[in-house]
Amino acid sequence: MKFLLSEYQSFLGQLMSDGYKCLSFSSPEARSIDGKNLLLRHDIDVDPSAAIEMARTENSVGARSTYYVLLSNRHTNPLDKAFRSAVRNLADLGHWIGLHFDATQYDLQPEDPSFSNYVAKEADLLEWTTGISVDSVSFHRPAKNLLSSPGSLTAPYSHTYENVFLREIEYCSDSSGRWAYGPPEDRQAHKTGKPFHFLTHPIWWGSEDVEPVSRVTNWMAQRVFDDFSYELPQSDNPFGDLT
Ligand SMILES: [Zn+2]
Repeated sequence: MKFLLSEYQSFLGQLMSDGYKCLSFSSPEARSIDGKNLLLRHDIDVDPSAAIEMARTENSVGARSTYYVLLSNRHTNPLDKAFRSAVRNLADLGHWIGLHFDATQYDLQPEDPSFSNYVAKEADLLEWTTGISVDSVSFHRPAKNLLSSPGSLTAPYSHTYENVFLREIEYCSDSSGRWAYGPPEDRQAHKTGKPFHFLTHPIWWGSEDVEPVSRVTNWMAQRVFDDFSYELPQSDNPFGDLT
């Protein structure tokens, strides 16, 4: 599969017509290791507005997914009106909202008894700024000791790296803009009617066939241009000809 929304749409459309049911990670049924359950998930590292096209694509085939939003990022301001409105747009399209949590921001180790308190504080902040309930948690660039870690780390929320979601249910990810374990259409789970956990990062995806890294570069160039225009609207923008 190329990183094209059109290809993603046909793949999902096929799963939906095969009888797959989309579940959130907080649903007790999502822990079943049998049945045509689809656990769709997106980690948003930089900009929730860049995920809206993907959210519409899923909505067009009746699919629901969870969008995990990172707050502790130099590009993100959870109080920013555009950020809040983008997250609400994702929820209005029928999707669940989760917290994307970076434990390295606080030098947290899994054995730290206050781990879940840090998660709860960020989840409260996300709920407060957007007015949307947080469904569950995913870790940003998890260290090895967070893989297959217990759900108690993020209690009362489930997290997507619990053993059942990572090892017992077939998992496929586009991390770093490539299919590390083979493309999703080649995976066995959906060929045999088993649960399937599928992660993508919306920033890699678009409507034209462009290398994923170029998409991020273009996003960053636009961001720098927009920031300059915002701070100094009367001055000529020195960052290229972007509009
Ligand atoms: Zn991430």
